[in-house]
Amino acid sequence: MKPFAFAQATDVDGVLSLLAAEGARPVAGGTNLLDLMKAGVTPAGGMAPSLLIDINALQGLDQVEEFEGGLRLGALARNADTAYHALVRDRYPLLSSAILAGASPQLRNMATNGGNLLQRTRCVYFYDVGTPCNKREPGTGCPAKNGINRQLAILGTSEQCIATHPSDMCVALRALDATVHVRSAGGERKIPFAEFHRLPGDRPEIDATLQPGELITHITLPDAARFVGHSAYIKVRDRLSYAFALVSVAAALELDGGTIRAARIALGGVAHKPWRVEEAEEQLVGKTAGESAFEAAADRILQGARGYGQNDFKLTLAKNAIVQALTTAVRGTAHAKGE
Ligand SMILES: Cc1cc2nc3c(=O)[nH]c(=O)nc-3n(C[C@H](O)[C@H](O)[C@H](O)COP(=O)(O)OP(=O)(O)OC[C@H]3O[C@@H](n4cnc5c(N)ncnc54)[C@H](O)[C@@H]3O)c2cc1C
Ligand code: SF4
Repeated sequence: MKPFAFAQATDVDGVLSLLAAEGARPVAGGTNLLDLMKAGVTPAGGMAPSLLIDINALQGLDQVEEFEGGLRLGALARNADTAYHALVRDRYPLLSSAILAGASPQLRNMATNGGNLLQRTRCVYFYDVGTPCNKREPGTGCPAKNGINRQLAILGTSEQCIATHPSDMCVALRALDATVHVRSAGGERKIPFAEFHRLPGDRPEIDATLQPGELITHITLPDAARFVGHSAYIKVRDRLSYAFALVSVAAALELDGGTIRAARIALGGVAHKPWRVEEAEEQLVGKTAGESAFEAAADRILQGARGYGQNDFKLTLAKNAIVQALTTAVRGTAHAKGE
């Protein structure tokens, strides 16, 4: 492992001044960053920091609380504490389900909300430092396009990279219109969730629009009461637990009897960012909730999708998963049914 300096800070201003140093990077739960450092993965984007700043002692960033009619999730709140918090379970069951579909109980006890957003792809070549990879080392190539790509993207890919973003939590946050709040020495900034992660384009080494020197302080969610009764998170994976999504779907519906008044659908495991096509949601408004409307929405969401060989099956799988998630949402959220 590359040698690094270690610092701890107890207030945000202290972290921000340390973050200004070249090669500085915050560590929260460490469940992704430390793995990468130990494996000697030294990608562009500072994953081999020369200064590691422990932010776990920051006060006030580990809370989950009401905020302007919605919810505020501290960046340092653990994934498990977030998923099991009464406000999340009662008012945002979709988010709770998505978090609990990820990783393992031990990992969720350590992983933080801020770190979850910035976890890196699980493409095997990214972790194998003996192979080329444009995301780890720009300009070296993308062996995944004609290689091991079963887990990888079918939407929004580029010549440079076909990686996926591996988070479950982020899929629900995208469906629920979250906002990421960040601070830097220059002040505060709000990033709509749709703009937080990016597509690979010709800069696959950059996953997110967070700038150097910026710290995520919290994530906010607008009120989602109208979706509480009808939401579902479906995750299709190779093992029932402790596996990343091949395809996942966060679906939420507002229903008026059998008629759809509003829909939210986001996909994981299919692109470099959580994938959402708002035209497909608008197309559902006023329609009878049922298979034909859901299949048409799925076709719209998957317009332009393509496989790379091993992951061709995702084209059919994603369509079926969207229909299944919407059908499950119609039946009613487990929580809303008192289960
Ligand atoms: C075996 C295994 C299985 C897993 N399975 C899943 C799964 O199925 N689904 C899933 O969603 N996830 C899964 N994960 C990933 C896990 O959820 C993430 O590793 C975790 O959420 C990262 O959070 P952390 O706090 O540990 O981040 P860290 O490892 O501490 O940090 C990750 C990145 O975020 C940055 N960072 C952290 N906090 C902040 C902040 N406040 N502001 C700015 N930058 C910050 C760090 O600098 C680093 O770049 C798995 C992980 C492992 C090891
Ligand atoms: S898909 Fe992206 S992460 Fe995987 S090898 Fe290609 S460039 Fe690297």
